[in-house]
Amino acid sequence: MFLDKMFPRAILHVDGDAFFAACEVSLNPKLKGKPVVTGLERGIASAMTYEAKAKGVTRGMRLFEIRKICPDVIILPSDYETYSIFSHRMFNIVRRYTTVVEEYSIDECFADLTGLDSSSGLSYTEIAMAIKRDLEGELGMTFSVGVSTSKVLAKVASKLKKPSGLVIIPGKEIEAHLMKLPIEKVWGIGSQTSLFLWRQGIHTALEFASKTEEWVKEKFSKPHEEIWHELRGVSLYRVCPGKIDEHKSISKTRTFTPASNNREFIFSQLSKNIENACIKARRHHLVAGEISFFLKTQEFRYSTLELKLSLPANVPEQILKVVIANFDKIYLPSVLYRASGITLRKLTDARVIQTDLFGQSIEVQSFNKMYKEIDALSQKYGKHTLFLGSSMKAMLDAQHTGDRGRPTVRKQELFLGETQRKRLGIPFMGEVS
Ligand SMILES: [Mg+2]
Repeated sequence: MFLDKMFPRAILHVDGDAFFAACEVSLNPKLKGKPVVTGLERGIASAMTYEAKAKGVTRGMRLFEIRKICPDVIILPSDYETYSIFSHRMFNIVRRYTTVVEEYSIDECFADLTGLDSSSGLSYTEIAMAIKRDLEGELGMTFSVGVSTSKVLAKVASKLKKPSGLVIIPGKEIEAHLMKLPIEKVWGIGSQTSLFLWRQGIHTALEFASKTEEWVKEKFSKPHEEIWHELRGVSLYRVCPGKIDEHKSISKTRTFTPASNNREFIFSQLSKNIENACIKARRHHLVAGEISFFLKTQEFRYSTLELKLSLPANVPEQILKVVIANFDKIYLPSVLYRASGITLRKLTDARVIQTDLFGQSIEVQSFNKMYKEIDALSQKYGKHTLFLGSSMKAMLDAQHTGDRGRPTVRKQELFLGETQRKRLGIPFMGEVS
Protein backbone atom coordinates (compact mmCIF):
# COMPACT_ATOMS: atom_id res chain seq x y z
CA MET A 1 0.00 0.00 0.00
CA PHE A 2 1.33 3.43 -0.99
CA LEU A 3 -0.22 5.25 1.96
CA ASP A 4 -1.72 3.80 5.14
CA LYS A 5 -3.30 7.06 6.28
CA MET A 6 -6.64 8.38 5.02
CA PHE A 7 -5.90 12.09 4.50
CA PRO A 8 -2.45 13.41 5.50
CA ARG A 9 -3.58 16.29 3.25
CA ALA A 10 -7.00 16.82 1.69
CA ILE A 11 -6.87 18.48 -1.70
CA LEU A 12 -10.01 19.33 -3.63
CA HIS A 13 -10.21 19.76 -7.39
CA VAL A 14 -13.28 21.25 -9.05
CA ASP A 15 -13.88 21.18 -12.79
CA GLY A 16 -16.86 22.71 -14.61
CA ASP A 17 -18.60 20.24 -16.94
CA ALA A 18 -18.76 21.45 -20.57
CA PHE A 19 -18.24 24.84 -19.02
CA PHE A 20 -18.72 27.31 -21.89
CA ALA A 21 -21.80 25.53 -23.18
CA ALA A 22 -23.10 25.14 -19.62
CA CYS A 23 -22.80 28.92 -19.06
CA GLU A 24 -24.97 29.49 -22.14
CA VAL A 25 -27.58 27.03 -20.88
CA SER A 26 -27.53 28.59 -17.43
CA LEU A 27 -28.25 32.02 -18.94
CA ASN A 28 -30.91 30.71 -21.27
CA PRO A 29 -32.89 27.87 -19.68
CA LYS A 30 -34.69 27.19 -22.96
CA LEU A 31 -31.46 25.55 -24.10
CA LYS A 32 -31.62 22.98 -21.32
CA GLY A 33 -31.54 19.40 -22.57
CA LYS A 34 -30.62 20.48 -26.09
CA PRO A 35 -27.46 19.95 -28.09
CA VAL A 36 -25.67 23.29 -27.75
CA VAL A 37 -22.27 24.09 -29.24
CA THR A 38 -20.15 27.24 -28.84
CA GLY A 39 -17.60 28.43 -31.39
CA LEU A 40 -19.75 29.97 -34.13
CA GLU A 41 -17.24 32.77 -34.68
CA ARG A 42 -14.45 30.33 -35.54
CA GLY A 43 -16.40 27.80 -37.53
CA ILE A 44 -15.44 24.98 -35.16
CA ALA A 45 -16.78 23.65 -31.85
CA SER A 46 -14.97 25.04 -28.80
CA ALA A 47 -17.36 23.48 -26.27
CA MET A 48 -20.53 21.40 -26.40
CA THR A 49 -23.21 20.18 -24.04
CA TYR A 50 -23.40 16.49 -23.16
CA GLU A 51 -26.49 16.22 -25.40
CA ALA A 52 -24.29 17.31 -28.34
CA LYS A 53 -21.48 15.01 -27.22
CA ALA A 54 -23.94 12.11 -27.19
CA LYS A 55 -24.60 12.72 -30.88
CA GLY A 56 -20.92 12.48 -31.67
CA VAL A 57 -19.92 16.15 -31.61
CA THR A 58 -16.32 16.59 -30.54
CA ARG A 59 -14.14 19.58 -29.78
CA GLY A 60 -12.63 21.12 -32.89
CA MET A 61 -15.24 19.59 -35.21
CA ARG A 62 -16.26 21.82 -38.09
CA LEU A 63 -19.70 23.35 -37.82
CA PHE A 64 -20.96 22.04 -41.17
CA GLU A 65 -20.05 18.51 -40.06
CA ILE A 66 -21.84 19.08 -36.76
CA ARG A 67 -25.01 20.17 -38.57
CA LYS A 68 -24.84 16.97 -40.61
CA ILE A 69 -24.66 14.59 -37.64
CA CYS A 70 -26.83 16.72 -35.36
CA PRO A 71 -29.39 18.71 -37.40
CA ASP A 72 -31.14 20.19 -34.33
CA VAL A 73 -27.90 21.60 -32.92
CA ILE A 74 -27.88 25.16 -31.56
CA ILE A 75 -24.61 26.89 -32.38
CA LEU A 76 -23.63 30.04 -30.47
CA PRO A 77 -20.70 32.44 -30.64
CA SER A 78 -18.26 32.17 -27.72
CA ASP A 79 -18.83 34.83 -25.09
CA TYR A 80 -15.65 34.83 -23.00
CA GLU A 81 -16.69 37.87 -20.96
CA THR A 82 -19.66 35.97 -19.61
CA TYR A 83 -17.67 32.78 -19.06
CA SER A 84 -15.15 34.65 -16.96
CA ILE A 85 -17.94 36.13 -14.81
CA PHE A 86 -19.21 32.61 -14.13
CA SER A 87 -15.64 31.60 -13.43
CA HIS A 88 -15.22 34.33 -10.79
CA ARG A 89 -18.44 33.27 -9.11
CA MET A 90 -17.27 29.68 -9.09
CA PHE A 91 -13.98 30.53 -7.35
CA ASN A 92 -15.72 32.76 -4.81
CA ILE A 93 -18.13 30.00 -3.83
CA VAL A 94 -15.20 27.64 -3.12
CA ARG A 95 -13.54 30.45 -1.13
CA ARG A 96 -16.42 30.39 1.35
CA TYR A 97 -14.99 27.11 2.63
CA THR A 98 -11.28 27.88 2.58
CA THR A 99 -9.07 30.79 1.60
CA VAL A 100 -6.53 28.40 0.11
CA VAL A 101 -7.98 28.33 -3.40
CA GLU A 102 -5.88 28.23 -6.53
CA GLU A 103 -7.57 29.40 -9.73
CA TYR A 104 -6.10 26.94 -12.17
CA SER A 105 -8.00 27.73 -15.35
CA ILE A 106 -11.25 29.41 -16.31
CA ASP A 107 -13.27 26.43 -15.08
CA GLU A 108 -10.93 24.59 -12.72
CA CYS A 109 -9.58 25.23 -9.25
CA PHE A 110 -7.78 23.48 -6.44
CA ALA A 111 -8.47 24.04 -2.74
CA ASP A 112 -6.63 22.79 0.33
CA LEU A 113 -9.20 21.42 2.77
CA THR A 114 -6.65 19.95 5.21
CA GLY A 115 -7.89 20.28 8.80
CA LEU A 116 -11.35 21.53 7.83
CA ASP A 117 -12.87 18.22 8.89
CA SER A 118 -11.99 18.64 12.55
CA SER A 119 -12.74 22.37 12.61
CA SER A 120 -16.17 21.95 10.98
CA GLY A 121 -17.17 18.59 12.37
CA LEU A 122 -17.88 17.41 8.81
CA SER A 123 -16.09 14.72 6.85
CA TYR A 124 -14.15 15.71 3.72
CA THR A 125 -16.83 13.96 1.68
CA GLU A 126 -19.53 16.09 3.32
CA ILE A 127 -17.52 19.29 2.73
CA ALA A 128 -16.99 18.40 -0.94
CA MET A 129 -20.71 17.63 -1.28
CA ALA A 130 -21.60 21.00 0.22
CA ILE A 131 -19.26 22.85 -2.16
CA LYS A 132 -20.68 20.94 -5.13
CA ARG A 133 -24.25 21.66 -4.02
CA ASP A 134 -23.54 25.41 -3.68
CA LEU A 135 -21.81 25.59 -7.06
CA GLU A 136 -24.53 23.74 -8.91
CA GLY A 137 -27.40 25.50 -7.11
CA GLU A 138 -26.04 29.00 -7.64
CA LEU A 139 -24.50 28.70 -11.08
CA GLY A 140 -27.06 26.44 -12.72
CA MET A 141 -24.65 23.91 -14.14
CA THR A 142 -22.87 20.76 -13.01
CA PHE A 143 -19.35 20.35 -11.65
CA SER A 144 -17.11 17.35 -11.23
CA VAL A 145 -15.35 17.24 -7.90
CA GLY A 146 -12.47 15.16 -6.62
CA VAL A 147 -10.80 14.97 -3.22
CA SER A 148 -7.59 13.13 -2.48
CA THR A 149 -4.25 13.48 -0.73
CA SER A 150 -2.39 15.30 -3.53
CA LYS A 151 -3.15 17.63 -6.43
CA VAL A 152 -2.40 15.00 -9.07
CA LEU A 153 -4.73 12.52 -7.37
CA ALA A 154 -7.45 15.15 -6.82
CA LYS A 155 -7.37 15.78 -10.57
CA VAL A 156 -7.55 12.05 -11.24
CA ALA A 157 -10.57 11.88 -8.91
CA SER A 158 -12.54 14.72 -10.50
CA LYS A 159 -12.12 13.16 -13.94
CA LEU A 160 -13.33 9.70 -12.99
CA LYS A 161 -17.09 10.30 -13.03
CA LYS A 162 -17.69 13.23 -15.33
CA PRO A 163 -20.19 14.87 -15.57
CA SER A 164 -21.36 15.84 -12.09
CA GLY A 165 -19.10 13.30 -10.41
CA LEU A 166 -17.93 13.34 -6.82
CA VAL A 167 -15.02 11.00 -6.20
CA ILE A 168 -13.11 10.77 -2.95
CA ILE A 169 -9.80 8.89 -2.96
CA PRO A 170 -8.44 8.39 0.56
CA GLY A 171 -4.86 7.25 1.02
CA LYS A 172 -5.81 3.61 1.47
CA GLU A 173 -7.73 3.44 -1.82
CA ILE A 174 -5.21 4.98 -4.19
CA GLU A 175 -4.11 1.76 -5.89
CA ALA A 176 -7.65 0.69 -6.72
CA HIS A 177 -8.25 3.96 -8.55
CA LEU A 178 -4.99 3.94 -10.48
CA MET A 179 -5.34 0.37 -11.71
CA LYS A 180 -7.41 1.15 -14.81
CA LEU A 181 -6.16 4.69 -15.40
CA PRO A 182 -4.13 4.97 -18.63
CA ILE A 183 -0.80 6.64 -17.86
CA GLU A 184 -1.32 9.29 -20.57
CA LYS A 185 -4.39 10.56 -18.71
CA VAL A 186 -2.33 11.61 -15.70
CA TRP A 187 -1.92 15.36 -15.28
CA GLY A 188 1.63 16.34 -16.25
CA ILE A 189 2.43 13.20 -18.26
CA GLY A 190 2.82 14.42 -21.82
CA SER A 191 2.71 12.45 -25.04
CA GLN A 192 6.51 12.05 -25.21
CA THR A 193 6.66 10.68 -21.67
CA SER A 194 3.72 8.36 -22.34
CA LEU A 195 5.47 7.04 -25.41
CA PHE A 196 8.61 6.41 -23.40
CA LEU A 197 6.64 4.68 -20.64
CA TRP A 198 4.77 2.47 -23.11
CA ARG A 199 8.10 1.31 -24.48
CA GLN A 200 9.05 0.36 -20.93
CA GLY A 201 5.87 -1.72 -20.78
CA ILE A 202 4.06 0.75 -18.52
CA HIS A 203 0.48 1.50 -19.52
CA THR A 204 -1.40 2.38 -16.35
CA ALA A 205 -0.86 4.96 -13.62
CA LEU A 206 -0.59 2.11 -11.12
CA GLU A 207 2.22 0.45 -13.07
CA PHE A 208 4.13 3.73 -13.05
CA ALA A 209 3.44 4.50 -9.38
CA SER A 210 4.54 0.95 -8.44
CA LYS A 211 8.03 1.43 -9.86
CA THR A 212 10.81 1.96 -7.34
CA GLU A 213 12.11 5.42 -6.53
CA GLU A 214 15.55 4.42 -7.86
CA TRP A 215 14.06 3.42 -11.19
CA VAL A 216 12.16 6.71 -11.49
CA LYS A 217 15.21 8.75 -10.50
CA GLU A 218 17.35 6.98 -13.03
CA LYS A 219 14.94 7.40 -15.93
CA PHE A 220 13.37 10.80 -15.28
CA SER A 221 14.05 14.37 -14.24
CA LYS A 222 12.53 16.14 -11.27
CA PRO A 223 9.01 16.97 -12.58
CA HIS A 224 8.19 13.34 -13.36
CA GLU A 225 9.70 12.17 -10.12
CA GLU A 226 7.33 14.58 -8.37
CA ILE A 227 4.35 13.20 -10.26
CA TRP A 228 5.40 9.72 -9.17
CA HIS A 229 5.32 10.84 -5.51
CA GLU A 230 2.01 12.63 -5.98
CA LEU A 231 0.47 9.52 -7.54
CA ARG A 232 1.53 7.57 -4.44
CA GLY A 233 -0.41 10.05 -2.33
CA VAL A 234 2.49 12.23 -1.17
CA SER A 235 1.57 15.87 -1.60
CA LEU A 236 4.46 17.86 -3.09
CA TYR A 237 2.55 20.40 -5.16
CA ARG A 238 1.12 23.03 -2.83
CA VAL A 239 -2.17 24.70 -3.54
CA CYS A 240 -1.04 28.26 -4.25
CA PRO A 241 -3.79 30.73 -3.48
CA GLY A 242 -3.95 33.04 -6.42
CA LYS A 243 -6.08 34.48 -9.10
CA ILE A 244 -5.81 34.32 -12.82
CA ASP A 245 -5.16 37.95 -13.56
CA GLU A 246 -6.23 38.74 -17.09
CA HIS A 247 -4.70 42.20 -16.94
CA LYS A 248 -1.19 41.39 -15.91
CA SER A 249 1.55 41.64 -18.47
CA ILE A 250 5.03 40.27 -19.11
CA SER A 251 7.80 42.71 -20.05
CA LYS A 252 11.37 42.08 -21.13
CA THR A 253 13.79 44.94 -21.67
CA ARG A 254 17.51 45.17 -22.18
CA THR A 255 19.93 48.05 -22.56
CA PHE A 256 22.89 47.65 -24.89
CA THR A 257 26.14 49.61 -24.80
CA PRO A 258 27.35 51.28 -26.80
CA ALA A 259 24.26 52.72 -28.42
CA SER A 260 23.75 51.47 -31.96
CA ASN A 261 21.90 52.25 -35.16
CA ASN A 262 22.65 48.87 -36.72
CA ARG A 263 19.22 47.59 -37.69
CA GLU A 264 20.17 43.93 -37.57
CA PHE A 265 21.77 44.27 -34.14
CA ILE A 266 18.87 46.23 -32.66
CA PHE A 267 16.36 43.81 -34.09
CA SER A 268 18.26 40.85 -32.64
CA GLN A 269 18.14 42.49 -29.21
CA LEU A 270 14.40 42.81 -29.54
CA SER A 271 14.16 39.24 -30.82
CA LYS A 272 15.97 38.00 -27.73
CA ASN A 273 13.60 39.95 -25.48
CA ILE A 274 10.67 38.40 -27.31
CA GLU A 275 12.13 34.93 -26.79
CA ASN A 276 12.55 35.62 -23.07
CA ALA A 277 9.05 37.01 -22.69
CA CYS A 278 7.65 33.94 -24.46
CA ILE A 279 9.60 31.59 -22.20
CA LYS A 280 7.99 33.26 -19.19
CA ALA A 281 4.52 33.21 -20.77
CA ARG A 282 4.80 29.50 -21.53
CA ARG A 283 6.06 28.76 -18.04
CA HIS A 284 2.87 30.32 -16.68
CA HIS A 285 0.66 28.76 -19.38
CA LEU A 286 -0.32 32.17 -20.71
CA VAL A 287 -0.89 33.49 -24.21
CA ALA A 288 -0.85 37.15 -25.23
CA GLY A 289 -3.65 38.80 -27.14
CA GLU A 290 -1.72 42.06 -27.57
CA ILE A 291 1.89 43.12 -27.64
CA SER A 292 3.80 46.36 -27.56
CA PHE A 293 7.44 46.86 -28.41
CA PHE A 294 9.67 49.87 -28.04
CA LEU A 295 13.05 51.28 -28.93
CA LYS A 296 14.75 53.74 -26.62
CA THR A 297 17.08 56.33 -28.14
CA GLN A 298 20.36 57.56 -26.74
CA GLU A 299 18.46 60.67 -25.65
CA PHE A 300 16.11 58.47 -23.63
CA ARG A 301 13.21 58.93 -26.01
CA TYR A 302 10.89 56.03 -26.54
CA SER A 303 9.11 54.92 -29.68
CA THR A 304 6.44 52.39 -28.92
CA LEU A 305 4.06 50.44 -31.06
CA GLU A 306 1.06 48.56 -29.74
CA LEU A 307 -0.30 45.71 -31.78
CA LYS A 308 -3.19 43.35 -31.46
CA LEU A 309 -2.46 39.74 -32.45
CA SER A 310 -4.90 37.97 -34.71
CA LEU A 311 -4.38 34.78 -32.68
CA PRO A 312 -3.23 34.70 -29.04
CA ALA A 313 0.39 33.60 -28.95
CA ASN A 314 3.27 32.58 -26.69
CA VAL A 315 5.83 31.39 -29.22
CA PRO A 316 8.33 33.89 -30.63
CA GLU A 317 7.77 33.01 -34.30
CA GLN A 318 4.18 34.18 -34.16
CA ILE A 319 5.07 37.43 -32.40
CA LEU A 320 8.16 38.10 -34.50
CA LYS A 321 6.08 37.85 -37.65
CA VAL A 322 4.05 40.82 -36.47
CA VAL A 323 7.07 42.74 -35.16
CA ILE A 324 9.04 42.26 -38.37
CA ALA A 325 6.14 43.66 -40.40
CA ASN A 326 6.05 46.76 -38.20
CA PHE A 327 9.63 47.28 -37.02
CA ASP A 328 10.42 50.04 -39.51
CA LYS A 329 7.49 52.09 -38.25
CA ILE A 330 9.54 52.97 -35.18
CA TYR A 331 13.13 52.33 -36.29
CA LEU A 332 15.00 55.21 -37.94
CA PRO A 333 18.45 54.44 -39.41
CA SER A 334 19.75 57.88 -38.45
CA VAL A 335 19.05 57.46 -34.74
CA LEU A 336 21.23 55.78 -32.12
CA TYR A 337 19.35 53.37 -29.86
CA ARG A 338 20.33 52.07 -26.46
CA ALA A 339 17.52 49.71 -25.48
CA SER A 340 14.64 47.65 -26.79
CA GLY A 341 11.78 45.92 -25.08
CA ILE A 342 8.62 43.90 -25.47
CA THR A 343 5.46 43.67 -23.40
CA LEU A 344 2.96 40.83 -23.75
CA ARG A 345 -0.50 41.91 -22.71
CA LYS A 346 -4.09 40.67 -22.52
CA LEU A 347 -2.76 37.44 -21.11
CA THR A 348 -5.13 34.52 -20.89
CA ASP A 349 -4.86 30.86 -20.05
CA ALA A 350 -3.10 29.04 -22.88
CA ARG A 351 -4.99 25.84 -22.29
CA VAL A 352 -8.33 27.49 -22.87
CA ILE A 353 -7.09 29.14 -26.04
CA GLN A 354 -5.59 25.93 -27.32
CA THR A 355 -8.94 24.16 -27.27
CA ASP A 356 -10.36 27.17 -29.03
CA LEU A 357 -7.74 26.89 -31.72
CA PHE A 358 -8.11 23.19 -32.16
CA GLY A 359 -8.35 22.42 -35.85
CA GLN A 360 -7.83 26.08 -36.66
CA SER A 361 -4.16 26.40 -37.12
CA ILE A 362 -1.84 23.52 -37.76
CA GLU A 363 1.04 26.00 -37.70
CA VAL A 364 0.26 27.13 -34.17
CA GLN A 365 -0.09 23.56 -33.01
CA SER A 366 3.21 22.47 -34.43
CA PHE A 367 4.93 25.50 -32.84
CA ASN A 368 3.36 24.61 -29.50
CA LYS A 369 4.63 21.07 -29.84
CA MET A 370 8.11 22.22 -30.80
CA TYR A 371 8.34 24.67 -27.90
CA LYS A 372 7.26 22.02 -25.45
CA GLU A 373 10.40 20.15 -26.47
CA ILE A 374 12.57 23.29 -26.45
CA ASP A 375 11.36 24.18 -22.95
CA ALA A 376 12.15 20.67 -21.78
CA LEU A 377 15.68 20.97 -23.20
CA SER A 378 16.16 24.37 -21.57
CA GLN A 379 15.09 22.97 -18.25
CA LYS A 380 17.73 20.29 -18.61
CA TYR A 381 20.62 22.25 -20.13
CA GLY A 382 19.90 25.87 -19.25
CA LYS A 383 18.03 28.77 -20.78
CA HIS A 384 18.81 29.59 -24.43
CA THR A 385 20.24 26.18 -25.22
CA LEU A 386 18.39 26.77 -28.44
CA PHE A 387 17.57 30.20 -29.78
CA LEU A 388 16.32 31.82 -32.94
CA GLY A 389 18.69 32.94 -35.66
CA SER A 390 17.20 36.41 -35.37
CA SER A 391 18.49 36.61 -31.77
CA MET A 392 22.01 35.51 -32.69
CA LYS A 393 23.68 38.92 -32.60
CA ALA A 394 22.22 39.67 -29.20
CA MET A 395 23.33 36.28 -27.88
CA LEU A 396 26.86 36.96 -29.02
CA ASP A 397 26.87 40.43 -27.51
CA ALA A 398 28.12 39.87 -24.00
CA GLN A 399 27.92 43.48 -22.93
CA HIS A 400 24.47 44.11 -21.65
CA THR A 401 23.13 45.45 -18.44
CA GLY A 402 19.65 45.17 -17.04
CA ASP A 403 17.28 48.02 -17.53
CA ARG A 404 14.08 48.20 -15.61
CA GLY A 405 13.26 51.73 -16.70
CA ARG A 406 9.62 52.38 -17.44
CA PRO A 407 9.01 53.77 -20.89
CA THR A 408 6.71 56.69 -21.44
CA VAL A 409 4.48 55.30 -24.12
CA ARG A 410 3.81 57.11 -27.33
CA LYS A 411 0.66 55.31 -28.19
CA GLN A 412 0.08 54.30 -31.75
CA GLU A 413 -2.87 51.99 -32.11
CA LEU A 414 -2.64 49.48 -34.87
CA PHE A 415 -5.02 46.63 -35.25
CA LEU A 416 -3.68 43.84 -37.35
CA GLY A 417 -6.43 41.44 -36.55
CA GLU A 418 -10.00 42.41 -36.09
CA THR A 419 -11.81 40.13 -33.69
CA GLN A 420 -14.23 37.72 -35.23
CA ARG A 421 -16.84 38.99 -32.85
CA LYS A 422 -16.65 42.48 -34.26
CA ARG A 423 -16.61 41.20 -37.80
CA LEU A 424 -19.79 39.27 -37.16
CA GLY A 425 -21.35 42.32 -35.52
CA ILE A 426 -21.82 40.53 -32.23
CA PRO A 427 -21.87 43.04 -29.35
CA PHE A 428 -19.77 42.51 -26.26
CA MET A 429 -21.71 41.58 -23.23
CA GLY A 430 -21.41 43.72 -20.13
CA GLU A 431 -21.61 42.60 -16.52
CA VAL A 432 -24.22 39.98 -15.84
CA SER A 433 -26.10 41.00 -12.72
MG1 LIG B 1 -14.05 21.58 -17.53
